[in-house]
Parts: sequence; C-alpha cells; structure tokens
Amino acid sequence: MAERPTIYDLSHRELATTLHRWGQPAFRADQIWHWLYRSLVGDWADMGNVPAALRARLADAFDLLPLIPITEQVSANGQTRKVLYRLADGQTLESVLMLYQDRRTACISTQVGCAMGCTFCATGQGGLVRHLSAGEIVAQVIALAREIRAAEIEQAQAQDRRAILEVHPVSNIVLMGMGEPLANWQATWKAIETLTDDRGYNLGARQITLSTVGLIPGIRRLIEAQVPINLAISLHAPNDSLRDQLAPVNRRYPLERLLQAARLYIERLGRRVTFEYALAKDVNDSDDHAQRTAELLRGLLCHVNLIPMNPTPGCPYEPSSRAQMIRFQEVLVKERIQTTVRLSRGVDIEAGCGQLRGRYLESQG
Ligand code: SAH
Ligand code: SF4
Repeated sequence: MAERPTIYDLSHRELATTLHRWGQPAFRADQIWHWLYRSLVGDWADMGNVPAALRARLADAFDLLPLIPITEQVSANGQTRKVLYRLADGQTLESVLMLYQDRRTACISTQVGCAMGCTFCATGQGGLVRHLSAGEIVAQVIALAREIRAAEIEQAQAQDRRAILEVHPVSNIVLMGMGEPLANWQATWKAIETLTDDRGYNLGARQITLSTVGLIPGIRRLIEAQVPINLAISLHAPNDSLRDQLAPVNRRYPLERLLQAARLYIERLGRRVTFEYALAKDVNDSDDHAQRTAELLRGLLCHVNLIPMNPTPGCPYEPSSRAQMIRFQEVLVKERIQTTVRLSRGVDIEAGCGQLRGRYLESQG
C-alpha cells in the first residue's frame, strides 16, 4: 500500500469530511472534486479557485499523481496504447487504452499480480503481489483521460476547446487488466462508485464491464449491489476437468455452481452476461468443445466472445487457427447463442494481460 493515500482514494463524502475537519466551507468538496474529475488537473497549482494554503495542505496529505508512466507501447495502427506505470511503493501495473470509432475504452488493472494462477495468463504466473487501492484503480482512468484530453486540446481549434471539456475522454472501462477484480472487491467497488459519481467523472454504470474468472461470492455481491454494470465471465472450457487445468480456481467454484450464479445474476438484474472464451489450439477448441459449450449455455441470456489464446512467455498453449475459431462460432450460433469472434487487439504490443510488466521485470533482473 502506498505510504500516503492518493486523493483518488477518497469518496466525495470522505473528502467533504476531511475538509470540514480542516475548517473549510462545505462547497470546497464540490470544487475540488470538479478539478479532479472534470478538469482532470495534474497539478494542485491548477486548482485556480482553491486558496493556496489549502492547496498546500492537500498536497501535503495526498498524492495527486500516484501513477508515473515508465514505458508505453503503441500498436502499429496507433489505436491501442499500453502504458506501464510505477506506483508510489515501486510496484508496477499496466493499463491499456483502445480507441474505436465510437468510444475510447480503458482496460484497467485491479491488482498487482493475481492469486488465481490461470495457466495461460502472464499475470497469474507471478502470483499476487498486492491489491490496488480504490484510488490506484481510479487514477488509471484519470491518467489515460488526461492524456486523451491533452492531445485533443492540442489538435482542436480554439473555438472547439470548450466542447472538448464537456465529453468523457475515456468513455468506457473494462476491468480486464491485471488482477481479479472480485478478489479485491472493496477497492474495486469503491472505484466504480467514484467514477460513476455524478458530481465527478459521472461515467454511466453501463459503460463499465467487470471481468471475473468466476468468484461466486463476488458475483453474489454484484447481484446485491443492483448496479447495472456489465458482467463478463472468463469461461474458457465447457467441463470441469479442462477448466480445472486452465483456471485452477474452478476446483473451488465449479461450472455448475458458476452457471447457477450467472443465471441468478441474469434473473435479478435483467441483464445479459458475456462469456469470454480464449481458444487454444488442440486444447479447448474442438467442435465437441463447442457443442458442449452450447449445451452449457443453452437458454441463458448471454453473449460469447471468442478470442485467440495469446501465447505468453512460459505458456504452453498456442492460439487456434482463424478457421477453427469460425467453426467454433458456427456451432454456437447454430444453437442460437450470440457469438462474436475477436482478433485480440494489440497483439503486436503484447496487449495480453501482464506481458509488458513481465518483460519489464525481467529487464530489471
Ligand atoms: N481476472 C479477470 C480479469 C482480468 S484477465 C478474469 O480472469 O476474467 C482479463 C481477460 O484476459 C480474461 O478473460 C482472461 O481469461 C484473459 N486472458 C488472460 N491471459 C490471456 C491469454 N494469454 N490469452 C488470451 N486471453 C487471456
Ligand atoms: Fe488472474 Fe484473470 Fe489472469 Fe486468471 S486470467 S490469473 S484470474 S488475471
């Protein structure tokens, strides 16, 4: 944990309480919140209407830049950028920005490392180092948003600059970076609450997707929270013995119970669930695997995303061929399960979870 909290660790209420304790008028919390989440300032000095003495006190108590970029990779087409950040305690994490025609999606991390040990995942191989704090999760979005905003302002004509300040530079968030978000529930949930707070960044819950390896207690919490974020479940196999191999946490939360939890989520929230399925050649990609997956998901309000397994250092799997991915899709579609084939984005920049960090750590010995 960082020695000094970041300002992004504080909810609006916590900030207001702190400022009240410091003898500040009640409107200050809104003012500062606005600088943080609408103006996206990266320097306390830019908080123009905040008295200098208060800015100094805030700067003393809270870190405004908890993430320092150390390396960045940009895909050949310039639309995917992956940034490796250093945290206050020297740990590192990855965030990815994906620019599409209609949205700008940030793929962010919730932990340094991960304890789940999936055998195909670069992050899983090193185990869990530590949870991220809520502020470290929020700060990834703000850091990327700040970069987009700066680039847009630089390019825009003077008269368009005001309009730029009205839009969300990062329009969508996927919690699909390093770590298992439901294993770091408290910080993840607080970060979601902060980012959706309408006095601040005001992101719509529907613009957020949380991806889980399938921690059932966490899925239950999501059901209880009744907030309409999107849920993605990393399935990767249609039977327990194969899933045990790929995602060992399946031994604790086997498929039948996982599907039960997904069904409950769909019923209670009235929302579709996405199942992620990474196809590895001759491992989980046969026609028979497709047929069994269809049987498993039959009747569920869901969508399946097929992605090629991305080979990581030390990972024993190879990606399926494009042709086999399409065959797999056809089997599911024939069973009336909505299925998309995606070529994973940014393979040329090691966009697979945890790969950039892995290489960086290696280079540091
Ligand atoms: N821990 C969560 C979210 C982070 S991983 C989860 O497992 O869902 C984000 C996604 O990347 C998951 O669907 C995961 O299965 C997938 N992934 C990890 N390593 C991969 C690899 N080498 N190839 C393809 N997908 C991978
Ligand atoms: Fe953790 Fe997700 Fe990687 Fe599995 S795939 S080790 S749950 S980050």
